[in-house]
Amino acid sequence: MSNEKKIKRFPLTSNPRPSDKEPIKRPLPPKNLKYTISCKNCDEKFVLFASPKDITAWITLEKDIDEALPSFTQKEKDMISTQLCSNCLEKFFGS
Ligand SMILES: [Zn+2]
Repeated sequence: MSNEKKIKRFPLTSNPRPSDKEPIKRPLPPKNLKYTISCKNCDEKFVLFASPKDITAWITLEKDIDEALPSFTQKEKDMISTQLCSNCLEKFFGS
């Protein structure tokens, strides 16, 4: 038995994209849905970006918000679940 088995070799993947093409612009790779919320208190609009799949999982109650939107900050999750803008959230819930 030799140690060679331990070394994993990753196959070289060929790049199908010609290099002379202009680069693909991907400004928001994982979060691609604009989710607009109007604040219930002051009507201020705020926009969060999330993948449609994650948002849908939360809307349909398939997952709770922590599970569905793990990339969101606690504040963003509070905003989305209370439908309040960050200002009103601070006004009502403090700190
Ligand atoms: Zn507000």
